[in-house]
Amino acid sequence: MSSYVGRFAPSPTGPLHAGSLVAALASYLDARAHDGRWLLRIEDLDPPRELPGAAEAIIADLARLGFEADAPVLFQSTRHAAYEEEFERLRHAGLVYPCACSRREIADSQVGPEPRAEPVYPGTCRAGLPAGRAARSWRLRLDAEPVAWADRPAGWEQGRPQLTVLAREVGDFVVRRADGPWAYQLAVVVDDAWQGITDIVRGADLVASTARQIHLRRLLGYPAIRTLHVPVVLANDGQKLSKQTGAGPISAADPVPALAAALAHLGIQVPESGTLGQFWRHAISRWRASDWAQGAD
Ligand code: GLU
Repeated sequence: MSSYVGRFAPSPTGPLHAGSLVAALASYLDARAHDGRWLLRIEDLDPPRELPGAAEAIIADLARLGFEADAPVLFQSTRHAAYEEEFERLRHAGLVYPCACSRREIADSQVGPEPRAEPVYPGTCRAGLPAGRAARSWRLRLDAEPVAWADRPAGWEQGRPQLTVLAREVGDFVVRRADGPWAYQLAVVVDDAWQGITDIVRGADLVASTARQIHLRRLLGYPAIRTLHVPVVLANDGQKLSKQTGAGPISAADPVPALAAALAHLGIQVPESGTLGQFWRHAISRWRASDWAQGAD
């Protein structure tokens, strides 16, 4: 029996589309190719960004496409007590502090020649909230230690060792908004550990979060998790295909061509003409024999 546990963790901001299908498929094939379990987690932590009905639509589409989860779907909206408990552990250890800065103030404090996509937090509130200011968020207190990590061999930079100095590249990052909501980084780490995930397989658009998540996992004393980041699907203008760039929903009514196209994006060709059952059999055996499968138990 394999110890492998994988997951697909979409945010319900829109229906499943060609880009999210690639991430779903890669995570599923990797789990099946390693005789592992595969879990589905709906990351519904940010209601203003969510589309009513999207979670149900994603779950129904995945089922029609032949994805079979090995446990009931986990909704992050049911997990607030767990995030609270883990947040309190960080707080008691003095690892988080309240911060009053707005996005605007952080962006304005950048000294580099060009504004960065994600500005580095300059540490303004590290030594305490400025007088008269209220907390807007809680931030994790980083040290200068680099995070050493590597993707599995076929993933990011062919699995070459990476060193990420979070304090320089990101700065103390937000784990909770002061008005309640949990940051993705904290929730994802708590749930990956709680669900016993051994392998995260997801789009390379999330690679920048990896070092943050490893660091949080270590602080919370969780086991390490392997990662495999697969290329994201780009729209014609070179932007990442996403609900925000208007990616259309995939046709779950005619599943095999949609699945075959997602797999072709990862360099694996299978016939488009067969049944759904044939697709999955081919796809799992091709994945198992491919470089993608390397580096997991
Ligand atoms: N919920 C995140 C998203 O849809 C993905 C989380 C993850 O795979 O770590 O972008």
